[in-house]
Amino acid sequence: MVQEQKFLKGPRLRDLEEYDFPGLQRAMDIGSEAIIEEISQAGLLGRGGAGFPTGKKWELAYQEEGEFKYVICNADEGEPGTFKDRYLLDERILKVLEGMLIAAYTIDADFGYIYIRGEYFNSINILQETLEEARESGVLGENILGSDFSFDIKLVRGAGCYVCGDETSLLNSLEGMRGGSRTKPPYPISKGLCGCPTLVNNVESLACAAEILNQGSEKFAALGTAESKGTKLVCLSGDVNFSGVYEVEFGSSTLQEIIDDLGGGLKKSQDIKFVIPGGLSTRVLPPERLQCEYSYEGLDEAGSSLGSGGVMVVGSEQNLKDILTRIARFYMDESCGTCFPCREGNHQIYEIVSNSDNGSEDFPEEKLEIIEDLGSTMAAAARCGLGQTARLPTGSIISEFKQELTEEAVYHD
Ligand code: NAD
Repeated sequence: MVQEQKFLKGPRLRDLEEYDFPGLQRAMDIGSEAIIEEISQAGLLGRGGAGFPTGKKWELAYQEEGEFKYVICNADEGEPGTFKDRYLLDERILKVLEGMLIAAYTIDADFGYIYIRGEYFNSINILQETLEEARESGVLGENILGSDFSFDIKLVRGAGCYVCGDETSLLNSLEGMRGGSRTKPPYPISKGLCGCPTLVNNVESLACAAEILNQGSEKFAALGTAESKGTKLVCLSGDVNFSGVYEVEFGSSTLQEIIDDLGGGLKKSQDIKFVIPGGLSTRVLPPERLQCEYSYEGLDEAGSSLGSGGVMVVGSEQNLKDILTRIARFYMDESCGTCFPCREGNHQIYEIVSNSDNGSEDFPEEKLEIIEDLGSTMAAAARCGLGQTARLPTGSIISEFKQELTEEAVYHD
């Protein structure tokens, strides 16, 4: 039976009077290099989806020499099936704030932004109040907690644009431009907001960093596996009985156990058709591959990836064609249109999928091959993660269910 871990989760933490920022206090005692060592020893990998080592990112940001440096908390949580950052923003906001302050202190940043998904109305209210109260109580602004460290944060609301969760589009949006991606490199670490060195971290990564400084890297690294340290907030949704955010120790369970024990199995006693294990930017897994260990390496070996932790469970009663159309529509609508492969590729995939609704005659194997071909071109040539990963759910559904997709019965309930 999978048990929930409680490294990040805990009672609601919003009241500044009840919290004395132990992680930040310790960070200011040990200094930048020791903080970076602590985060690196913990083995924390970025929790936004890409899994870049956080300690390395902080080290690079620390080494950057710039007159002005920024820290940005990427709270533009738009990946379908992903709602873990909202949990932290609503329930554990002081841990997120603490992580951001530790990051700023470490790299000697001058100013910070929290870029939040515009539809997270409750989180926005909480953040506005928290930032004001933090300023009043000396946790933000000049001489934080009586030290010589000064830093302030501005909250910026996104405007309903998925691609602004991509860090380079987010930077454009913050600069007042259209939210379109930039070419990387240069990475934001060296040339970010207004050309200055900018550290962009996901909400969960920052909360983890605060707990690592608070509880120690040994405690974090003792949880998990050789390659996946600590815990992960898993967002369970779809056809499970109990959707929600669960904290799982890496390596402590299989994906199937998470679905059965935490998600309570499937609604209406359906069988599983497939699972999207890491948000919409990951390959689907059929039922026979759900015995994989829940960890970065476990999901890689199973043929997908951990992504943002958004586990979407699709039951056998769902219509494959509808799902493909919805995914294709999402990527077509959300492409920023800056680069041709993503703009045109997603449009073409949507046209093929949505017009192929009259049974096998209209969805022959050649059309599936065209979709795969378009997907590979986008993966190789699109400018940012949106276009590069758009093919993963669509392409994997097609390759796993090719036979079913070309059978007429799929399209008629
Ligand atoms: P990426 O691999 O390009 O970069 C990951 C992070 O590491 C970035 O901050 C990048 O600047 C940094 N980085 C990478 N190489 C670097 C280097 N050599 N030097 C300095 N910094 C370096 O991935 P990405 O495009 O930022 O993110 C893609 C992922 O985002 C997808 O895999 C998807 O899972 C995820 N995603 C998440 C959401 C969400 O809501 N959480 C939404 C969409 C996509």
